[in-house]
Amino acid sequence: MRIGVLALQGAFREHLDTLAAIGVTGVRVREPADLQGVSGLILPGGESTTMRQLIERWGLHRPILDLAESGAPIFGTCAGMIVLAREIAGGEAPILPLLDVSVERNAFGRQLDSFEADLAVPVLGDTPVHAVFIRAPIIERTGPGVDVLARLDDGRIVAVRERNVIATAFHPELAGETRFHRLVAAMASEHEDPGEGSGRRPHPTRRTQTR
Ligand code: GLN
Repeated sequence: MRIGVLALQGAFREHLDTLAAIGVTGVRVREPADLQGVSGLILPGGESTTMRQLIERWGLHRPILDLAESGAPIFGTCAGMIVLAREIAGGEAPILPLLDVSVERNAFGRQLDSFEADLAVPVLGDTPVHAVFIRAPIIERTGPGVDVLARLDDGRIVAVRERNVIATAFHPELAGETRFHRLVAAMASEHEDPGEGSGRRPHPTRRTQTR
């Protein structure tokens, strides 16, 4: 199985290393042809304004939406979460609006540029996730189809899942955390080869809406 990592900008190497650590082949995605044969895609942290420009320049917009609509897992971390949000506070246009959430960029301000926290993420088991936040966004609103996977102690939402799309405001790949990548790999193999009786639930966008 091959999982793509968008490698236009930002912290993509750490995602490739994390995939290697769990025995999954990671593929650098820079242009549409790189998506051939991948069963999932990771959107790394970095700078979402730059990613927006590079996604457009390399013609990756439609091919990534098509991959998501096929039901393949898509996982965005930090800037990658901003890329996936349906709404970005302040009126910026969405980039790849696959996740029914509103996000605020750089939500922790200058005083608290970066911090780390141990978070309970029940879907990943009892051991907390050591989460690294770097000029991180926060999720301000979630739509009805969105499951909250983790919150800060103050209740603010920092990890979500909507069907085949997962996003974290933090960087699990910078803390040696592999469980999100394992979850994505499990979803990718389920997408490749749906077992008997396992209802496949592709992302409800274009195709399903026109039915
Ligand atoms: N602050 C960045 C942005 O708004 C995200 C930071 C990150 O990905 N670590 O795009």
